[in-house]
Amino acid sequence: MDKNKGLVEHLEQYGMIKSTKVAETMEAIDRRLFVPGESAAYVDSPMPIGYNATISAPHMHATCLELLKDHLQPGMRALDVGSGTGYLTACFAMMVGPQGRAVGVEHIPELVVTSIENVKRSAAAELLAEGSLSFYAADGRLGWPELAPYDAIHVGAASADLPPTLIQQLKPGGRMVIPVGNIFQELKVVDKKPDGSISAYDETSVRYVPLTSRAAQLQGY
Ligand code: SAH
Repeated sequence: MDKNKGLVEHLEQYGMIKSTKVAETMEAIDRRLFVPGESAAYVDSPMPIGYNATISAPHMHATCLELLKDHLQPGMRALDVGSGTGYLTACFAMMVGPQGRAVGVEHIPELVVTSIENVKRSAAAELLAEGSLSFYAADGRLGWPELAPYDAIHVGAASADLPPTLIQQLKPGGRMVIPVGNIFQELKVVDKKPDGSISAYDETSVRYVPLTSRAAQLQGY
């Protein structure tokens, strides 16, 4: 059997993937194309990708996609802060489709270059070529105001607090998923209600690399 499909079925069996939409998306975007070396591509664990960064474990990708899926409908806008390998941004692009926008912001320029190469070999290549999927080398703590507001914001690195700038770039009715904390972190789900007020809850305890400056990250924090 196709190994990526096997991984998706495993995640479905363990309840990490709950919906057909997320299963289809993760089946379409082969994780192998986004990790260095095939051997560990389909194992459910995070992997180093250089520059003191990691690609998240498949079950974390699944969890975030499930939490965001109603905000990743065709035509919607998604921002992925700390896009790393580009895996999750590519999944967002598949879900929002050619009429939507998926934007990845990553502060290590080399990772941005690699993420674009990864996506070009994947099922999301056409979306990148058409421009509904794009990656930028920048400090993601500032979001990406040019395309704001977003229906969905995902932050792939742990923030000490809820960044007001990112909340500002969330559309009323939109949702942000962000790990918050230092060593002990909670994956927070932040909803901006239609009246602009904010509600948040903790989904699960997590361990992400910090959302920080490029210099601090390259020095090993
Ligand atoms: N979700 C991605 C990467 C997770 S690792 C994946 O699964 O592939 C977190 C990423 O956040 C790293 O690539 C790191 O370089 C990036 N990062 C950390 N602080 C950042 C900041 N201030 N701005 C942009 N990217 C940042």
